[in-house]
Amino acid sequence: MKTLVWVEHDGQSVKDATLSAVTAAAKLGEVHLLVAGQGVDGVAQAAAKIAGVGKVHVADDAAYAHQLAENVAPLVVELMGHHDAFVAPATTTGKAIAPRVAALLDVMQISDVLSVEGEDTFTRPIYAGNAIATVQTRDAKKVLTVRGTAFEKASPEGGSGTIEAVAATGDTGLATFEGAEIAALTRPELTSARVIVSGGRALGSGEKFHELIEPLADKLGAAVGASRAAVDAGYVPNDYQVGQTGKIVAPEVYVAVGISGAIQHLAGMKDSKIIVAINKDEDAPIFQVADVGLVGDLFKIVPELTEKL
Ligand SMILES: Cc1cc2nc3c(=O)[nH]c(=O)nc-3n(C[C@H](O)[C@H](O)[C@H](O)COP(=O)(O)OP(=O)(O)OC[C@H]3O[C@@H](n4cnc5c(N)ncnc54)[C@H](O)[C@@H]3O)c2cc1C
Repeated sequence: MKTLVWVEHDGQSVKDATLSAVTAAAKLGEVHLLVAGQGVDGVAQAAAKIAGVGKVHVADDAAYAHQLAENVAPLVVELMGHHDAFVAPATTTGKAIAPRVAALLDVMQISDVLSVEGEDTFTRPIYAGNAIATVQTRDAKKVLTVRGTAFEKASPEGGSGTIEAVAATGDTGLATFEGAEIAALTRPELTSARVIVSGGRALGSGEKFHELIEPLADKLGAAVGASRAAVDAGYVPNDYQVGQTGKIVAPEVYVAVGISGAIQHLAGMKDSKIIVAINKDEDAPIFQVADVGLVGDLFKIVPELTEKL
């Protein structure tokens, strides 16, 4: 079985989410990659070094400069003529490309795959991760998005894939790129961080969020996350949100500060190895999943903790 994996990149390097997708794809058989972009020689070279990779298909064209799903999907469909499965990481862009591929191939998509049980059988979360469904597809071509935290990352070194240029399928004209505002990250990225400190509604304001959460995160070398209530209240931007409708994370340590532990928040972080919760309500649901719980006022505990660290 030949699987095509879409390589997520920023024009310079391969994003970590791709490495988990490669591990998932390897469970199905031979792994080929697709690098779509403009001026992506460096990315293609890096992709070819990923352990276990066979061919790297490279489509270098202005139509793919901004990874518009509307343009990438027809390219994938073209390549699916000689692949049996398409795998994309379940990231924002991966989740925009894969359904278009599935629709164009007239097959179902299997989303957020947690494990590969066989070449047509997979597990995936339902009810915000409270139940795991085992699903089987009879479609000849499989289209999957895979959850990064469920698969080990393939080694970015040690592979010797062959690079092959593929013809561009052109600009569909269905979408145009207007601009991008990329937040400059001074901290680790949420989805690949080893430690995350997240703040909730209890912080009360953006100022307090920055004043209390960021120094603690800096001491721990952590990424900063937030509950949806904190995002909706405007304390921090949307891309900080952890949870069912935010990012799915599974760091070594997750510190939840003033977060109640609603089921939709837990869906995004409950696979973290160690969960530390700071909450003034000892009955808060977050304590049901916490390994370490501190009951008390965060405005007192967090500065003390930051100072002691
Ligand atoms: C379809 C849907 C999708 C959703 N997706 C997400 C999602 O992706 N992510 C997400 O987070 N939520 C999501 N939600 C929202 C979710 O249901 C909760 O409303 C949200 O997580 C609550 O955020 P919170 O814990 O910050 O706030 P609250 O529930 O208000 O909790 C605040 C907590 O802080 C504690 N507290 C208050 N003051 C202090 C203090 N001084 N010191 C210490 N502790 C204090 C309180 O005891 C309380 O437990 C979703 C909801 C829906 C319906």
